[in-house]
Amino acid sequence: MTLSPQQILRDVFGYPAFRGEQQAVVEHIAAGGDALVLMPTGGGKSLCYQIPALLRPGVGIVVSPLIALMQDQVDALCQLGVRAAFLNSSISAAAAHAVQQQLLRGELDLLYVAPERLLMPGFLALLDQLHANTPAPQPSPSMGEGAHPGIALFAIDEAHCVSQWGHDFRPEYRALTVLHQRFPAVPRIALTATADAPTRGEIVERLALQQARQFVSSFDRANIRYRVTQKNNARRQLQEFLESEHRNDAGIVYCLSRKKVEETAAWLQQRGWDALPYHAGLDAATRSNNQRRFLREEGVVMVATVAFGMGIDKPNVRFVAHLDLPKSMEGYYQETGRAGRDGLPANAWLAYGLGDVVAMRQLLDTGDAPEERKRLEKRKLDALLGYCESTACRHQTILRYFGEDHPGGCGACDNCLEPVNNWDATEAAQMALSCVYRTGQRFGTGHLIDILLGKTTARIGQFNHQRLSTFGIGKELSAAQWSSVYRQLVASGLLEADIEAYGGLKLTAAARPILRGEQSVWLRRDADPVKRKADRAERTAKAREPVAAAHDDPLWLALKARRMELAREQGVPPYVIFHDSTLLGILKQRPATLDELAQLSGVGQAKLVRYGEAFLQVVRDAAPG
Ligand code: ADP
Ligand code: ZN
Repeated sequence: MTLSPQQILRDVFGYPAFRGEQQAVVEHIAAGGDALVLMPTGGGKSLCYQIPALLRPGVGIVVSPLIALMQDQVDALCQLGVRAAFLNSSISAAAAHAVQQQLLRGELDLLYVAPERLLMPGFLALLDQLHANTPAPQPSPSMGEGAHPGIALFAIDEAHCVSQWGHDFRPEYRALTVLHQRFPAVPRIALTATADAPTRGEIVERLALQQARQFVSSFDRANIRYRVTQKNNARRQLQEFLESEHRNDAGIVYCLSRKKVEETAAWLQQRGWDALPYHAGLDAATRSNNQRRFLREEGVVMVATVAFGMGIDKPNVRFVAHLDLPKSMEGYYQETGRAGRDGLPANAWLAYGLGDVVAMRQLLDTGDAPEERKRLEKRKLDALLGYCESTACRHQTILRYFGEDHPGGCGACDNCLEPVNNWDATEAAQMALSCVYRTGQRFGTGHLIDILLGKTTARIGQFNHQRLSTFGIGKELSAAQWSSVYRQLVASGLLEADIEAYGGLKLTAAARPILRGEQSVWLRRDADPVKRKADRAERTAKAREPVAAAHDDPLWLALKARRMELAREQGVPPYVIFHDSTLLGILKQRPATLDELAQLSGVGQAKLVRYGEAFLQVVRDAAPG
């Protein structure tokens, strides 16, 4: 019996159709080709090597740096009836030996292995032995029972780890060319969600994938709603955001420093949130325990530095919030991309203010990186600031940065949902800049704004600033509006913070043509905080997402409770039993029979047998009458 990719997709994974490039990739690899697959997070990369591994004789060897996640990945496959195992430094010698025996007996469909383990001479010798057993390629499905010796394929996950420039660099990844040299006939598939062209080039070169076919998907994350909020009291704004939109949801809050991570986590805990800290300064046990709780339990808010998240494949992360600016658009896209892997709506929320711009610029200036590196990082930060201040569609702006077109008008970003106006701020900019100039380029915005508004403060008296020509000339704008003007002038590089003068602002060369009246300035008109509040209630009501809307439904709660019980019994994360999207399907369709249940996306044969009755019973119990 020969199975087709579609049959495996349906019977094993329970999905009705392939997404995007999946089918083309699967067919290419199954036929023995090499591939480089670029797909955004949540695009469905895993199926691209899992299905060919089931179609081809032998075991699929998956190289992954994400040791902490291998157990969950293997658990998820076992739930589907796929014979999977992993090898890394976390398991005992006896357990490793047992896995190797399974391998040699041809009893595995997929093996996850850490790169350092793969490169050990003993393991490579084992692969040699396996490979010697590989039968001549023929279309024979290796799914299900029976022994199939040999190597079906090599999958190199998180392939951007070969790149020295990314912060995920793994030196062992560079040695993976050994696979090609030793086993030229075994197909290789490298996968990454890192979108930029230089990294792609580096992967091809470093992994010797010149002959591989490249599959590049759109990097749009249509289900993520991007939003940038102007900071006034960031924690309180975060709390409001969580309360109005994510009361019971799991999500990640990113902060720049370890200290802020701990403070913010404690602050949220005091207010009743199930929040946990995560940063590289915590001991390994605490880190893995917190990560485990985030994955295994529902509704945990992880407050973290960027040390958290690579490869976190929890599908139902409903929001990613940034309390500090990411370092670049790449960072922002990657971090926010951890939301909504399951394709259901999710929020990316960023709070940002003048202080962040100043802090990030200073961080770059004071670092001891070589000049060239600093210039590159500065350009990256500028792009991110441009994004924050942009009034255009966020999806469009992000994709343009990565060299992809998007028509705009996404209907799922703040700028599309509540269009923001630009205003001709030339005159205001001139006032703001000349106030900086006349005070000697050493004061911060608080004092500058007091001067523009004509306030008589002790500090103004001390410096005789009431005698300046700019004193009181800015009364037409409010303090908040001036603050917005200064933020945007710093963000666009017309002003910079002077580190020697404790963050006082000074003019850059770019400010000259504006002061001389040779160039005009357009700025975004920030939403009025009072009006915003009124809008918010309405917006929240309108934007009740399918998941949030379900929260009040007793059947939804019962389905989730049953899932959690089943997960606890087996010590696996709940989404390994069924994804939220499958539970939503049950909620909506209320299946009465196993056949009806089998129609839902995410219900394959193995899960139907294991869990079908349990969930049908939940539906029956909830039936009225
Ligand atoms: P990636 O590794 O690209 O981030 P995953 O392989 O983890 O993505 O897939 C993301 C989610 O989408 C998973 O929950 C997966 O089960 C689901 N998925 C993948 N392919 C399909 C498909 N063809 N139909 C429905 N769901 C899919
Ligand atoms: Zn938009």
